[in-house]
Amino acid sequence: MQVKKDIKSLTLEELKKELAARGEKAFRAKQMYEWMHVKLAEGFEEMTNLSKSFREQCGEWYTYTSLKAVQVQESRIDGTRKYLFELSDGNVVESVWMKYKHGNSVCISSQVGCRMGCRFCASTLDGLERNLLPSEMLDQIYAITRLTGERVSNVVVMGTGEPLDNYDNLLQFLQILTDENGLNISQRNITVSTCGLVPRMRQLAEERLQITLALSLHATTDEKRRRLMPIANKYSIEELMDACAYYFSCTGRRITFEYSLVGGVNDTQEDAEELIELAKPLCCHVNLIPVNPIKERDYVQSDTRHIQGFKNKLEKNKINVTIRREMGRDIDGACGQLRRRHTKETASYKQDEI
Ligand code: SAH
Repeated sequence: MQVKKDIKSLTLEELKKELAARGEKAFRAKQMYEWMHVKLAEGFEEMTNLSKSFREQCGEWYTYTSLKAVQVQESRIDGTRKYLFELSDGNVVESVWMKYKHGNSVCISSQVGCRMGCRFCASTLDGLERNLLPSEMLDQIYAITRLTGERVSNVVVMGTGEPLDNYDNLLQFLQILTDENGLNISQRNITVSTCGLVPRMRQLAEERLQITLALSLHATTDEKRRRLMPIANKYSIEELMDACAYYFSCTGRRITFEYSLVGGVNDTQEDAEELIELAKPLCCHVNLIPVNPIKERDYVQSDTRHIQGFKNKLEKNKINVTIRREMGRDIDGACGQLRRRHTKETASYKQDEI
């Protein structure tokens, strides 16, 4: 049996070719693309300016992904909303909606689960289930736009999964997301976060996109990094820094270093000094994240004094640094916690009505 094509993962050009091969005129593709990526239709049946028979045929030819919101949590502190979405195969992914002064930001997942094994991260505890399709990454943004009724201006690929481990789908997703015929989100308003897959970072650099690359560094020596992140056994910090410099030289985009502060592990003044040495030669920005403890591991957050001391040291050395606001701290804020709780808990768990 022939596998049906996933229509929402096609670029406009691909869709034109696809429908042309079925004898359809080019404007049909344009209309359909607009339904999918501007009007954010949830199925062919909503595309009312296309004939019923054509919509029905499309249903036979193609799959049309859409997400079902199964749970939403809203932070009482800052209004951040965390959504748990069910995919067509019953898997669930989480996405976060954050309201900032400069606009609305959505943090999306790129995979169901993750195989990178970072020790402090809840998303990886059960390994990788599967990659998300480009359409399923788009759907998270589209569903949130529909549910909130507000435009999304920024997208961060920082939810569950390692985006560069799902490279081709990520690029296809970025192309459609930034297409002027679709939601038309500016490349500069998109951040992709990686645990540091060096060959893929270099490949991404060569795409010469204007997106921000964030590197989850979290430690300043290979030895310390290996204790937190298994990927550090494969790529050294030296290779990572070279890849970051290469990304900057190809794109002109400043790199973000993410550094989760874990009490007693990577938060000393010596760590700060080493981080300064790494950051200085690069055009970068350091984002300090107080680690969000997960119950499966015994890591604790650095205390406020250590966090502030760490930041001050960087600032004194003219490193551009911010402490990430802990959005939605009261709603299972850490990556993968909501999904994991949903998957693990008994059916008696009370879900919020949507
Ligand atoms: N795989 C990608 C993107 C997903 S994780 C990456 O590694 O960058 C997004 C960010 O959250 C990463 O910097 C990750 O290291 C961090 N993170 C994961 N779990 C965390 C936790 N419990 N506390 C603080 N930061 C965490």
